[in-house]
Amino acid sequence: MTEPFKPLILIVEDEAALVTLLKYNLEAEGYRTEVAMDGLQAAELVAKAVPDLVVLDWMLPGMDGIGVCREIRRRPQTRDIPVLMLTARAEEEDKVRGLNVGADDYLVKPFSLPELQARIRALLRRVPPVAQKGTLSFGDVEMDLAGRRVSRAGRPVHLGPTEFRLLQALMQEPDRVFSREELLTMVWGADIHVEVRTVDVHIRRLRLALNGEDGADIIRTVRGGGYGLTLGE
Ligand code: CA
Repeated sequence: MTEPFKPLILIVEDEAALVTLLKYNLEAEGYRTEVAMDGLQAAELVAKAVPDLVVLDWMLPGMDGIGVCREIRRRPQTRDIPVLMLTARAEEEDKVRGLNVGADDYLVKPFSLPELQARIRALLRRVPPVAQKGTLSFGDVEMDLAGRRVSRAGRPVHLGPTEFRLLQALMQEPDRVFSREELLTMVWGADIHVEVRTVDVHIRRLRLALNGEDGADIIRTVRGGGYGLTLGE
């Protein structure tokens, strides 16, 4: 078994107590973390090991959060990393919006940890993790993300691009049940108007391709809920 994919989150924050709290909670949620306590260190770290998401404090010694965000957006290899900005006061919230610094989302301190977790999950779902170049596996199904290849029990499985993205969405969080609406947003995008039944059509194709004639079904349909993965009852 390969290790499950753990997104890397870079925490950029100069308050030691908050760093400890964030690091502890994000790791408990299954993320890997790196910490930078000032802007310059953050810019260095981002270039070294490209994180999947950056939690970025606005007020930092050295280079502030805006500067770090600009650095991230300037480089092609880090341009698409989701940035969640933390701001200390409501006025800063306006500044983040007004300056259009390139943050994808922001939270005003003090914020609740469940709120932070929810924002992080939403951002990671929107953009496929940048550092994700490896393999996903579930049961006897392997996905080579860089090579865009899928195999089951060692035999190649041919999937269309939509089925590939659907399977990737399911395999990234194999323990979760996704509603049709969630899958629509993840695979087709939030701004595209597609009927929810479209998801069923593509799930059927995905099942057919994966299971063949006699393979066990790894996709479970949850009545009224949506779809998830299963290793069989
Ligand atoms: Ca600060």
